[in-house]
Amino acid sequence: MLDASGNLIAVSGSSLPSLPLKLTSEPWQTLEDDRGNRYLFYSTPLHTRNNQIWGRLQLGRSLQDFDEYLANVRLIMGLGLPLSLIGVAIASWKLAEIAMQPIYKSYQQIQQFTADAAHELRTPLAAIRATVETTLNQENLSENQARETLEVVERQNSRLSELVKDLLWLSRMEQKTLLTSQNPCCINDLISDTEEELAALAIQSQVTLITEIRAKKSVIVKGNEAQLYRVIFNLATNAIQYTLPGGKVTIILDSSVNYAIIQVKDTGIGIPQEEKRKIFDRFYRINSDRSRTTGGSGLGLAIVRAIIQAHQGTIELDSQAKKGSIFTVKLPLKN
Ligand code: ADP
Repeated sequence: MLDASGNLIAVSGSSLPSLPLKLTSEPWQTLEDDRGNRYLFYSTPLHTRNNQIWGRLQLGRSLQDFDEYLANVRLIMGLGLPLSLIGVAIASWKLAEIAMQPIYKSYQQIQQFTADAAHELRTPLAAIRATVETTLNQENLSENQARETLEVVERQNSRLSELVKDLLWLSRMEQKTLLTSQNPCCINDLISDTEEELAALAIQSQVTLITEIRAKKSVIVKGNEAQLYRVIFNLATNAIQYTLPGGKVTIILDSSVNYAIIQVKDTGIGIPQEEKRKIFDRFYRINSDRSRTTGGSGLGLAIVRAIIQAHQGTIELDSQAKKGSIFTVKLPLKN
């Protein structure tokens, strides 16, 4: 309590802080003691009975708890906010990286595909060009030489046509435009057609080609006949081509409750474990030099896989290097 001249005349409370006790007309004031602790004061004038100013009553409380709380909040805001912003930035960066991965992968696949396709197209084109140039440089061209050149051009041309045809197949399969017609297809018929078609190649390669029908009834699958024929044809052609003379290729047909099971088994050169997944990629050949002598472009199994996927089927490979391979195709039976 202060008198009218501002002198302290009474105090309540145990310890009196050394505050500059000023007499002001402001009701609320914040004062600081010599140790820097803040106090909030409420000051109200006291009047005598005849309304004369007698003094002032000042009530105060320490702001230490409040200041400590405020300091903590400042610390949290000062450190926590930048730290959480950094955390959010790192998390966004990582999430963007994860989200970009499939796009980046398919971009890389497109680039790889373009490079591979260009490479495959360039080889027959270069062969045609070299042969034609050599022939043109000869002064007296005999009929035999001209015929030989034309034969090379024809061979390379049909290789090019096959390649372009395969690429078109694949791209249409991927756009799912080829599976428009879905009819009941008898797999027994497709297998006997394949056996007939490949008989000459098997004899030429000195490989025994046989079929084994284990299913009791005709196996009928709903799908596109030409495409399903192509699956069996490609697998059987590979089996013959990658089997050494004296070997055996068997096309097996069986069925389970829901599936038609077609197996193409050979006693050929086999496929190493680490190559099993890759051989279904476009243009992939285990040993490109050896495969090129077979006239393959590395698209055969990619087409097989695309057709099987379009028919909701599966393909599995079981193979041992130098012992042989078994490709097992499962296709849903027609209900
Ligand atoms: P290609 O036109 O070269 O035959 P494919 O896509 O049909 O292409 O096959 C890819 C590669 O897988 C082949 O180059 C060959 O190395 C390997 N391959 C496929 N089938 C067999 C098989 N039955 N035995 C051994 N290797 C095989």
